[in-house]
Amino acid sequence: MEINGSAVIVTGAARGIGRGIAEAYAQAGAKVIAADLGSLASRLEADWHYSLAARDELERTASEIRGRGGICTAIEVDVSERASCQNLVAKSVEAYGGLDILVNNAGIIQTGPIVDFAEADWERIFAVNVKGIFLLSQAALPHLVANGGVIINIASVAGKRGFAHMGAYCASKFAAIGLTQSMAAELAQFSIRVNAVCPGNVDTSMWFDHLSKSAMRQRQYGTNTVDDTFTAVIRDSVPLGREQAPADIAEAALYLTRAENVTGVSLSVSGGFEMS
Ligand code: NAD
Repeated sequence: MEINGSAVIVTGAARGIGRGIAEAYAQAGAKVIAADLGSLASRLEADWHYSLAARDELERTASEIRGRGGICTAIEVDVSERASCQNLVAKSVEAYGGLDILVNNAGIIQTGPIVDFAEADWERIFAVNVKGIFLLSQAALPHLVANGGVIINIASVAGKRGFAHMGAYCASKFAAIGLTQSMAAELAQFSIRVNAVCPGNVDTSMWFDHLSKSAMRQRQYGTNTVDDTFTAVIRDSVPLGREQAPADIAEAALYLTRAENVTGVSLSVSGGFEMS
């Protein structure tokens, strides 16, 4: 698909990987909807284990993209709620006259041993990381069917291999890859392509506010600080010896948007950390 002039929704776009993806599409000439929790974050943060993106982060991302000459509108969404997903799609179509590309990037994590992992955390992870893809894709489909279209799901290397203390997150990302393959098989008849990108280790809030702090990781790598833990993981586990940047993940998303003969793949972007 030609990116220049296309309309794209990117979820979880206020910061981190989603922000990098939104910036890359805007730079390639797309009309971008940057979608994130915005003011809804304060309601959810009370229940979660690290801060989700606040309203000013979403507005700042959109205005910085516009400041560099890109086309970008910020819209609030909670991808785990049907009505919110329908509202996002309706407002996006109203803003840009249609919808060509959907990037399901919003995601959350919580780690811990299965033996006492909270059921509520399991349910919230699946509500965002799996049901969020289903709900928003379902809301977007009538518009994508009209235009052909592309769906890209941001899964993870944790969707290809299990890691200790990451049962809920890994299961949700395996599910995201399964959903990607099912949608690719089902939607090919409408010329809609569905692919996933599986990031490796990206220096974002998810990593630094949560993963690097996990006691299990610090024990495993013999480290005490979040920086040391991140560095140790890269040094010991990534063949290319370097972390991934949001721009690396964005480049894969742009490739999969343009690759007319590719559907159903889950492309690892991990410096060799995961080779399947
Ligand atoms: P992040 O926490 O910086 O960004 C996630 C964004 O999703 C936040 O802006 C948050 O507000 C938003 N979000 C959370 N719940 C939402 C909801 N219900 N509705 C709408 N938005 C919501 O994390 P990130 O590292 O940028 O993660 C982006 C994606 O990449 C996630 O799907 C994550 O699982 C995946 N990923 C990250 C890494 C990594 O190393 N950082 C590795 C593999 C996969």
